[in-house]
Amino acid sequence: MNPIGIIYDIKKFAVHDGPGIRTTVFLKGCPLSCWWCHNPESQSRFPESKTELLTKNNLKLFRGNETIGVEVSVEEVMREVEKDIVFFDESDGGVTFSGGEPLMQDEFLLSLLKQCRLKDIHTVVDTSGYADYSVFEKINDYVNIYLYDLKIYDNQKHLKYTGVSNQLIHQNLKQLLKAGKNVKIRLALIPGIVDSLENLAQIISFIKTLDDELTVDILPYNKIGENKYNRMNLVHQLSGLEQQTEAEINRVKLQFETAGLKAS
Ligand code: SF4
Repeated sequence: MNPIGIIYDIKKFAVHDGPGIRTTVFLKGCPLSCWWCHNPESQSRFPESKTELLTKNNLKLFRGNETIGVEVSVEEVMREVEKDIVFFDESDGGVTFSGGEPLMQDEFLLSLLKQCRLKDIHTVVDTSGYADYSVFEKINDYVNIYLYDLKIYDNQKHLKYTGVSNQLIHQNLKQLLKAGKNVKIRLALIPGIVDSLENLAQIISFIKTLDDELTVDILPYNKIGENKYNRMNLVHQLSGLEQQTEAEINRVKLQFETAGLKAS
C-alpha cells in the first residue's frame, strides 16, 4: 500500500527550483528551526490550524479546511503533477520535492520519486541535508538532482541559528558526491550571518575541498517570510533585515568565482 504524506503547498510553473519549468511539491516537517525560515508553516510535521493561509489556491486543490497541511496520497500528488507534463517536456523541467525537509517523509517521498521515474518525469530534491544517510541511499537511484542547502560553516553558530549541528549535513554531502550524485549547492544569504565575509570564505574553502566543479546557487535574503510570522502570531528573531542589492549579490558571486567555483 502506498504511504500517505503531508504536504502544505504545490507550486506550479516554478522556475527557480531546478532546470526548466517545474511543479514544486512542499512536504511538511523539518528537523531544523532556522531563525530566518521563510516557511514557518513547514516546520511542524503535522497539519496545523491557521485560517489565514486557506486562501492560497494551491491548498484548495486538495481537501482544504482550516489547516495548513493536508494528508494526501501518492496518487493525488501525481494527478496534480501529471497535469503539467506538457510544460516539463517543452522546457526540460520536471518536479521538485521541497519542504520543510522532504527527507523527513522518506517512504512517501520514495513512492513519489518511483512514480516520477515510471512516468519519465525529471526529479529534483531540495534538502537541508539533515537526515540519516540511509535515507539518501534509499532514494538516490530516483533523484536526478539534489539542491543541497549549506548555511553556516562554524558549527556553534550553525547550532545556534538552525537548532542542529552541521556535521551530519557536511558528512552526507561528502557521501553523495562520492556516490557520484548530481548535486547543486544552494546558499541563501542571510544578512550578517550567512553573508558575512568570514562565513563565505569558510564555505568556499569547504566546497573546494569537496569538488571544484560544484555549482553554487547564490540566493538573496527573502523578506517575504517575515509577514507570515505576523499572520501566524510567531516571533521572527531576525525581523528588519534587508534583502541584498543586485550589486551585493554579484560581489558574492565574484568571491566564489575568484576562488575558482561556479556561482549562479
Ligand atoms: S531548513 Fe528550510 S524549512 Fe527547515 S527551518 Fe530551515 S529554512 Fe525552514
